[in-house]
Amino acid sequence: MKTIVAKFGGTSLADAEQFRKIRRIVEEGPERRILVASAPGKRFPEDTKVTDLLLDCWEKAYAGQPFEAVLQEIRGRFQEILKGLGMDFPLDEEIETLREHLNDHPEKDYMASRGEYLNSRILAEFLGYTFVDPAWCVCFTESGELDQTMTRRAMGAALRPLKKAVIAGFYGADSDGIIHTFSRGGSDVTGSLAACAIQADLYENWTDVSGLLAADPRIVDTPHTVEYLTYRELRTLSYMGASVLHTDAVLPASDMGIPINIRNTNRPEDPGTMIVRKLPEGKTKHPVTGVAGRKGMSVIQVEKVMVSDGSGFSAIMLDILKKRRLPFEQCLTGIDTITLVIKSDLLVECRDDLFREIREELNPDYLGLKENLSMIAVTGEKGTESSDANVKVLQALTAAGIEISTVNQGAGKLNLLIGVPEERYEDAIRAIYRTMQEG
Ligand code: ASP
Repeated sequence: MKTIVAKFGGTSLADAEQFRKIRRIVEEGPERRILVASAPGKRFPEDTKVTDLLLDCWEKAYAGQPFEAVLQEIRGRFQEILKGLGMDFPLDEEIETLREHLNDHPEKDYMASRGEYLNSRILAEFLGYTFVDPAWCVCFTESGELDQTMTRRAMGAALRPLKKAVIAGFYGADSDGIIHTFSRGGSDVTGSLAACAIQADLYENWTDVSGLLAADPRIVDTPHTVEYLTYRELRTLSYMGASVLHTDAVLPASDMGIPINIRNTNRPEDPGTMIVRKLPEGKTKHPVTGVAGRKGMSVIQVEKVMVSDGSGFSAIMLDILKKRRLPFEQCLTGIDTITLVIKSDLLVECRDDLFREIREELNPDYLGLKENLSMIAVTGEKGTESSDANVKVLQALTAAGIEISTVNQGAGKLNLLIGVPEERYEDAIRAIYRTMQEG
């Protein structure tokens, strides 16, 4: 029988009704053997996620302020779920443990992780699955980095013998048992690690949308759902702001070639989006898979005759950035020019110093800065293999009167990265989406 790891996000576990939907989903697919659970998320748009309540509680306790009201709110969220499911659960004991922890030595990651811990225990009991605490098998170093090799081994050993289990998402522990969490949304990462550890056939990620949208719905009216895309495309799109899966969740699954299926708990009949290593033939309707972008970018341009003569000009430039631990998004080199794309907020404090150093070290003929840019990624492993699709995208921008500040295509032709003025960002996304529709 196939084995599926199914991760359920916060909105899929926000109240008792959502728990019942999960029960139906796993009953219909008994191959969903390993479940990964988030903390209760928002029940309605203005609601607060339990993780945020826990962090608020921690902040208050840490500052020596009263936290009981928030703790009661957290208790209320779990109580509502338990009552709705008609379950008996030692909730008051658990809340007392949290209270003691907060009074004693409040630790941020420990508190943040308790939403996943409690929700997973409740889900496991509700479904009759075994509860697995990731503190035993998701291994962090003391400095809070994930130890992937240890984790794969420990998770495999913990999960493989179990017929059906629920493991809490978002956290693990170091060798001293100290709890560490991933960054926000990190239960996606736990799911991917679990899928690798047991070499699952599929990693399902259940959320409240029916897959990845080809463009931001706040900008484009009802964009279509992407049926198939590759791991690399997803990484690019999520790095550039498309938020359907935690960026770090892609690598473990892609290492092992485990497909990821984004599904909607509220519409389980929808097939969702499949993320795979290689697109199946004839499965993509559009040559371009998706478009996403980010505002708040700056471009530094350095020009000097003979940049390209092998004098180490580019190396010196990159060394300056490295010494300052200043990450860059893109580095484009041309004959006698280097163009660097950097997040604007990283330049706020160091810009003058950085420019002085570049002048001293490189004595450039020209040194310029363009601010208020946005970067747009257009991905399409199929589409961008033909330069036709790229040309169409650039033509669409020109036709819409949008100035193109930088273009980076790279030899892999996986994606086109285009810099446009921030104030034309939305227009640019719409223009690109329209050409995608034309095919
Ligand atoms: N509960 C955590 C958060 O709100 C982790 C997760 O849901 O994946 O970020």
